[in-house]
Amino acid sequence: MIVLGVESSCDETGLALYDTGRGLLSHALHSQVAMHEEYGGVVPELASRDHIRRAIPLLQQTLKGAGMAAAGIDAIAYTQGPGLAGALLVGSSIACSLGLALDKPVLGIHHLEGHLLSPLLASDPPEFPFVALLVSGGHTQLMRVDGVGQYELLGETLDDAAGEAFDKSAKLLGLGYPGGPAISRLAEFGDPAAYKLPRPMLHSKDLNFSFSGLKTAVLTVVKNRGAANVCEQSKADIARGFVDAIVDVLVAKCVAALKQTGLKRLVIAGGVGANSQLRAALDAAAAKKRFRVYYPELEFCTDNGAMIAFAGAMRLSINPAAARREYGFNVRPRWPLDELRTV
Ligand code: ATP
Ligand code: MG
Ligand code: FE
Repeated sequence: MIVLGVESSCDETGLALYDTGRGLLSHALHSQVAMHEEYGGVVPELASRDHIRRAIPLLQQTLKGAGMAAAGIDAIAYTQGPGLAGALLVGSSIACSLGLALDKPVLGIHHLEGHLLSPLLASDPPEFPFVALLVSGGHTQLMRVDGVGQYELLGETLDDAAGEAFDKSAKLLGLGYPGGPAISRLAEFGDPAAYKLPRPMLHSKDLNFSFSGLKTAVLTVVKNRGAANVCEQSKADIARGFVDAIVDVLVAKCVAALKQTGLKRLVIAGGVGANSQLRAALDAAAAKKRFRVYYPELEFCTDNGAMIAFAGAMRLSINPAAARREYGFNVRPRWPLDELRTV
């Protein structure tokens, strides 16, 4: 069965074709980062308009990459939520119109389920059950995953998401948008002893996080020095202090979640999962504490269509009736993951 995946929840338009027999056939992505950069963040109306412009050419590119015609698609999976309402509407209307035109069933996918299952697209995928750390631009959650649709929330951020903390701190250092990759690169040149920033909730004895204070700590350091006096080396030192603090907390909570559940497999998903310092620290903890850690391919950490096609294929293999010939597009901009069920 061949599933077309359509992702448009934020500022990436992603299309992909996944075959339950042969795996990922092809995928295409357009990131709007350059367009939003001058505004310092995503402008929802611009995002929606750009999804409209990109979706059909990307669909054609994806079909060409797989060497097939649209008639060969068996079902269409699209991101139904959570995300920006207007952006989601573009993806869902494209999926539903295509379904209607081709007489194929469609199914809405939860964006976070896409992220959560994305490590299963890698060449050495984890088996269920596992603990998942979802660290993206909008979410930071620890989950116990027993199978597709079987997600138990163990803990989450009480304020900013990890990706958001990266982006906001990078902005304070004048590093542009999105700041995650930039602050990570800069941190490589920083002195780890220069700034010891707080590790929020490190000893909270639960699996929750809080990152807004860390961003404030970066702001305080920048202010105290006087923004004009923050030279390149100081920026790198602050970046290093920030990255070390956030990585310490993320790793400690992952280890605590594994201990609490008794599981030995840890899966990382979402954009911050691309972070090299986080990966190095998790690998070191895994070797020391004897657990295994799994990551998505780098290109599938941030938003993409492949994870949506894959999540759709997984759901359909459990319940073929999950896709329907119902083409009224309905999106769910706010949609808690624990409201998801397999059938
Ligand atoms: P959500 O999935 O929660 O709705 P999103 O889709 O915007 O949010 P993702 O696309 O998964 O989030 O990830 C984007 C985030 O990942 C941004 O905050 C970005 O700064 C961060 N990020 C990407 N690469 C890196 C990196 N190498 N180091 C740190 N952060 C990174
Ligand atoms: Mg994005
Ligand atoms: Fe995302």
